[in-house]
Amino acid sequence: MAHYTPMIQQYLKVKAEHQDAFLFFRLGDFYEMFFEDALKASQELEITLTSREGGGDEKIPMCGVPYHSAQSYIEQLIEKGYKVAICEQTEDPKQAKGVVRREVVQLITPGTLMEGRGLNDKENNYIASVTPFADNTFGLAYSDLSTGESKVTLLSNQFDEVLNELAVLGAKEVVIPSNFNGELQKQMRDRSAITLSFEDKDGTEESFSSLLLDLTQNKLKQTAARLFHYLYRTQKRSLDHLQSVSTYQIQQYLKIDYFSKRNLELTETIRSKGKKGSLLWLLDGTMTAMGGRMLKQWIDRPLIDKHEIIRRQNLVDTLIQHYFERQDLREKLKEVYDLERLAGRVAFGNVNARDLVQLKRSLTQIPFLKEIVRQFETEEAVELAEQLDPVEEVTDLLEQAIVDNPPLSLKEGNMIRDGYNAQLDQFRDASRNGKTWIAQLEQKEREKTGIKSLKVGYNRVFGYYIEVTRANLHLLQEGQYERKQTLTNAERFITPELKEKEALILQAEEKIGELEYELFTNIRETVKEYIPRLQSLAKNASKLDVLQCFAQVSEERRFVKPQFSEERRIVIKDGRHPVVEKVLNSQEYVPNDCYMDSEREVLLITGPNMSGKSTYMRQIALIAILAQIGCYVPANEAVLPIFDQVFTRIGAADDLISGQSTFMVEMLEAKNAITNATQNSLILFDEIGRGTSTYDGMALAQAMIEYIHNRIGAKTLFSTHYHELTVLEENLPKLKNVHVSAVEHNGKVVFLHKIKEGPADKSYGIHVAQLAELPNELIARAEEILQELEAEPMPQPSAVAIKEEYHEPSGQLSFFDEPKEIDQSHTPSAKEKRVLEQLKKLDILDMTPLQAMNTLYELHKKIKS
Ligand code: ADP
Repeated sequence: MAHYTPMIQQYLKVKAEHQDAFLFFRLGDFYEMFFEDALKASQELEITLTSREGGGDEKIPMCGVPYHSAQSYIEQLIEKGYKVAICEQTEDPKQAKGVVRREVVQLITPGTLMEGRGLNDKENNYIASVTPFADNTFGLAYSDLSTGESKVTLLSNQFDEVLNELAVLGAKEVVIPSNFNGELQKQMRDRSAITLSFEDKDGTEESFSSLLLDLTQNKLKQTAARLFHYLYRTQKRSLDHLQSVSTYQIQQYLKIDYFSKRNLELTETIRSKGKKGSLLWLLDGTMTAMGGRMLKQWIDRPLIDKHEIIRRQNLVDTLIQHYFERQDLREKLKEVYDLERLAGRVAFGNVNARDLVQLKRSLTQIPFLKEIVRQFETEEAVELAEQLDPVEEVTDLLEQAIVDNPPLSLKEGNMIRDGYNAQLDQFRDASRNGKTWIAQLEQKEREKTGIKSLKVGYNRVFGYYIEVTRANLHLLQEGQYERKQTLTNAERFITPELKEKEALILQAEEKIGELEYELFTNIRETVKEYIPRLQSLAKNASKLDVLQCFAQVSEERRFVKPQFSEERRIVIKDGRHPVVEKVLNSQEYVPNDCYMDSEREVLLITGPNMSGKSTYMRQIALIAILAQIGCYVPANEAVLPIFDQVFTRIGAADDLISGQSTFMVEMLEAKNAITNATQNSLILFDEIGRGTSTYDGMALAQAMIEYIHNRIGAKTLFSTHYHELTVLEENLPKLKNVHVSAVEHNGKVVFLHKIKEGPADKSYGIHVAQLAELPNELIARAEEILQELEAEPMPQPSAVAIKEEYHEPSGQLSFFDEPKEIDQSHTPSAKEKRVLEQLKKLDILDMTPLQAMNTLYELHKKIKS
């Protein structure tokens, strides 16, 4: 290292402490990168790679970005999951002896973004921390630095739960101790694009101890402390907007694992991973960005506490009944700025006067909102109205202090209102008087000299001047003005008086600039004291926004208020899949009923492919979820239990990325459902067993159905194309067959999308193939083969195999009614054939018991001989 220049040595020293980040090293007007960083950054950012002498044997690779446009380069790197350490000069180069001192002033990481295009208005940007404990539990904390909200929870000993939470949160970055299990680190990286960061400190420190006051358990404190150590270490600036950490338990919410959420397309679609086409997209009529974020949080965590659900429902009900007031609320909410993120930026110190004007405008809407809600007079509405705190102190301050249209820059003045500060008013008077004097000067001098074209002007270099055209110069008296500048057609002059006024004006303006900046910073500091109240207002305004959006969507899309059943009953009349309905346009959508109770726990759904089986199943789950977030549901009538968990196994195309075979994923998801579901859960299994051979698949499907039916009793919708399974209804009393009807019309199949009682009567596979326009010759051949196959009966699921009580696998189930000893490949001998023929011909109803016994004896003897 010794041979490098002092500056490169400084670089290497700083870099050694930030090995996992790109080091943006400030050199004059550029941020430069060297060595490995330069090689990698020039590729990632597509910027030119150069090199410079650095004292070593070889030139050092280097690339750089201009200081003023660095933001977009930083964002590009962050989006790709990298971290960027900003290293600034922290001493005046003029004062420096030797190399200017430089320090890292901020580490920007995917989880700590405060602004810019990496932040989506309607989405939180979470950073999480995970702490493993000796008893195999995990602590998980998360925080959105842009809004200041933090939460922490303890998860049981399955790492799956951690992965699941991280996925649900969409955490961009996870902070873990450096000795964290390597295999688990890999799982986190593989599951989604998560940036891992390390922090070994987990003790409580003065700087953030107040945030942990609500936490009683040490494990929770440790987990949250790790996150804050990391945030304080990397951000190196005021984090006063961080709210105290609250605990939550995943059991407080309807549990839906990440895969099921994805399958049901709650917040993004499976194919495009975009919001469009998801339940969130359908529901999102929120008027504010913070309302949008809350809506997503609510969809991610539906409630299970009936009381809380009903409270939301009652407010939605009220809002639906008051159409005009609701439209007023929407208009007012539209004017409400993102208070939550604004509060964060106030704390960080990066708001300008325009932001504060927006804050004021937002706050002035609150009394109107409050009044409208209060007038609804229901218990919930009055309570919500009370919680809408207009923070008048801030409104008043901003109204008095800041002008309506301030400039973007904080250094130019023109932000503070006249009358707010006496000193400022004096400076302004001085400047204005000077300017008026100058304005009058032109007229005065014109009269004095008789030169009509005489002008008074200003430029940056010479200040104020009097300009006379060359043609008129002769009208001036010798020495009347002092010559300053000569142009082609004119001369510019000054007078001592003019310069005196000019000095006054400039002095006053400089002072104005300084004073305004100082006043502005004070105002910002004052607003900072109100951050907790602003954050609480933000929460309540967001809640109102989400509830009005529920009301609006429920009315527009003809939803009804669901009732909750204590007897685990589902009654849905004319239910619809809200997203498919919206996309299809409501005329074409065929609504369907669903009835389930303690006598009908499992519905076995048969019907051809594309007939609407999985749409029907998803529709039931979406209706349940909508009900549990407090929204109305797409049906004409709905009675539902409050579910504790929803499980789905609906084939998804992209299981491949995880490297596991689709069938294995299918089995893992089935296992997840079967081991965790309770009587109060909802299970949706779509075509389970399809990924393996027919007998295998059918056997597994039947065993699962029996297990759920006999052991769990969860409400289950099971779709299958194994028509053979429909006989299960005879022996499983709580299983009912339903099917999606289809009719043949002119030899083609027409799907009616209507769910009907009973099993489907025919497989329409070939017709679907025909619809897909496979060659006619091929279709004809398939029909031929089908006829041949139908002539030989398929083995049917065995009635005896179905046990009232499920036995562990030791009791080996048999699925088909051949005795085990018979080898299925065995071809009957001539003797056996004769016995069979004789058996077939018997007319048992015409025989007496004795005759039957005798015949049986005869047959037995024949076959034994
Ligand atoms: P399956 O699971 O039986 O293969 P899907 O549920 O995927 O069938 O439905 C196939 C298509 O049928 C869907 O894409 C949808 O457009 C249409 N569909 C499903 N249910 C309905 C319905 N109730 N009304 C109108 N169209 C429907």
